[in-house]
Amino acid sequence: MKIALQPSPVQEIRDDLLTEKNVRLFIKRDDLLHDQISGNKIRKLKYNLLQARSEGHHTLLTFGGAYSNHIYAVAAAGEIYGFKTIGVIRGEPYPDLNPTLEFAISKGMYLHYISRAKYKNKYSAGSVSKLKDMFGQFYMIPEGGTNSLALKGCTEIINEIDVPYDFITSCCGTGGTLAGIIAGLNGNHHAVGFPVLKGGEYLRKEIQDYIKKYNEKVYLNWHLITDYHFGGYAKYSKELVEFINEFKKRQGIPLDPIYTGKMMFGLYNLIRKYVFKKCSRIIAVHTGGLQVIDGFNERFWNLIE
Ligand SMILES: *Cc1c(COP(=O)(O)O)cnc(C)c1O
Repeated sequence: MKIALQPSPVQEIRDDLLTEKNVRLFIKRDDLLHDQISGNKIRKLKYNLLQARSEGHHTLLTFGGAYSNHIYAVAAAGEIYGFKTIGVIRGEPYPDLNPTLEFAISKGMYLHYISRAKYKNKYSAGSVSKLKDMFGQFYMIPEGGTNSLALKGCTEIINEIDVPYDFITSCCGTGGTLAGIIAGLNGNHHAVGFPVLKGGEYLRKEIQDYIKKYNEKVYLNWHLITDYHFGGYAKYSKELVEFINEFKKRQGIPLDPIYTGKMMFGLYNLIRKYVFKKCSRIIAVHTGGLQVIDGFNERFWNLIE
């Protein structure tokens, strides 16, 4: 099995604000890496898929919420690379499938719903052995796809960048992508993460732990900006929605309201407040995942254009 990814393009953003503040902003278009296994998810899955294959597994099992980009990506990867896939979904099934789960089923994923209480203990020995009784042997990929092999995949973001820069930014769910970016930087430049969940401070330790597990190193050239969560996961404001629609109109680049929109909103705000010194060069990683827009629009009156 071979998973060859072409380097994603790095594109400069032109905007009056950037000229006025004398900051250069580039966007690394990981959203263009793959049409079904989007953005950071293909980076995180790449070495896991190779590992699963080399261990002789035929089935991938993973976990996620009903709108999860990761569930979507694993379902697509299963079809493309020839694995059966099982998605353990948090919460009870709704009578109507949302677009994410509909897609997952169309790619052959088997959905197994568990209660929120059980979901909290999904990695316990008892819970995993129950899944083994039910489904036989499988290669388990954690929620959000974050493990050391995922970090390895995300370090490749750094190898691909061939423009000079000072900062590189990513939004954070589990923080696995940022951890891979930090490991890839290996002490150079500066990484900035934007947690999309409320109370994102806890990610500092999680990210440190992921990196320690990956290469046993501690890095100091990174930090988190924790105040652009808009109230929490999948929470949003009118301002955020307007920013995303405006950004697409002006730049031709789609952002989503759960992940990349929050990061870009935050970045613009920080640039406006002169947080980045003159002549700073920033690379914002577009982590993809635009499929969430369909589910968001279905719930919230087609707010995203
Ligand atoms: C899953 C996802 C993230 C979160 O990545 P982590 O590695 O869990 O921090 C960020 N952006 C998008 C678009 C995603 O789909």
